[in-house]
Amino acid sequence: MSHTNIALFVSHMGCQMKCSFCNQHIITGNSGLVTKEDVNKAVQKALKSGHKGAQLAFFGGSFTAVDRDYMLSLLEAAGPFIKNGDISGIRISTRPDFIDADILKILKSYGVTAIELGAQSMDDGVLAQNDRGHTSDDVLNASLMIKQYGFELGVQMMTGLYTDTDEKSLSTAQKLAKLGPQTIRIYPTVVLKGTKLHELYLKGEYVPQTLDQAVNLCSRLILFFESMEINVIRVGLHSGGAVEEGFVAGAYHPAFKELCESKIYLDKALQKIDQEADLECDKNSGLKSGEPAVKAGYTLFVSPGEISKMTGHKKSNIIELDKKGFSCKVKQDNALKKYDIRVEKDGKK
Ligand code: SF4
Repeated sequence: MSHTNIALFVSHMGCQMKCSFCNQHIITGNSGLVTKEDVNKAVQKALKSGHKGAQLAFFGGSFTAVDRDYMLSLLEAAGPFIKNGDISGIRISTRPDFIDADILKILKSYGVTAIELGAQSMDDGVLAQNDRGHTSDDVLNASLMIKQYGFELGVQMMTGLYTDTDEKSLSTAQKLAKLGPQTIRIYPTVVLKGTKLHELYLKGEYVPQTLDQAVNLCSRLILFFESMEINVIRVGLHSGGAVEEGFVAGAYHPAFKELCESKIYLDKALQKIDQEADLECDKNSGLKSGEPAVKAGYTLFVSPGEISKMTGHKKSNIIELDKKGFSCKVKQDNALKKYDIRVEKDGKK
């Protein structure tokens, strides 16, 4: 079974709103109307590439808010592929205020298996200031219904929205986790041309997060959701599309999630080295707690496949650790899980 998504972006279709940050044409790089022929072509292409059993995904807009006949035409185009097992199901993303019993029954009957809700924030003030047109209660009610009807629930949140704060984002994360989603996507806000945020930014009324601020916050959010066993399937906007051309300001990096994960490993390494140093202090009277007893080398063990994240982009973590007086090398330990780290002081018996 393939875990690939065959993604089609239904840009701005069905949106009654124009959210403060959104320019879907820029985000997806697509301003055309997805047709049932596009569904056919996309699935055929995936099959030729060996992705039998992938999930068809309608992302980008407000799938359940589009013209009903149009929505049904896309779902019907997918029907034969579901029937013969070429695709395993359909994933959609939509707005929380366009979920009700009728639409859920329709989606179920056409083989939709997963619904992602663009929650963005659970703070009603932030939602209103960013022209979302729905409330946190809408997110709560839609999530309960999606689960009741047996769909996989995914949620999406943003950080750094207009009038948002780190505290509000952390509170949003806690409220979203309580809804029991299987997946989460986290998007730091990026100012794109042609949006309300762009105007506010030009007037000096909106100051976006810096890349460092967003990495700090999102690395905490990743660890939080992972600790709640919620699969973090995306952090940061996709590169490609036309984001680079439409970018004005904010926390955008084509490998944003990797930056966050490297930050997680750097913080954990420093914490563990500090603990080692404290142990040394206990044995060496006269040395202050929190300072390394001897500026020596350390080996940082991480799970296989995580070495590059521990090392950091262009060895940034190793360089940072070196600046703090720790000469470190990284090795794998098969017994460790993702984000676990074990530190050994070199030469220690
Ligand atoms: S964020 Fe979603 S609901 Fe808002 S304008 Fe964009 S596509 Fe529409």
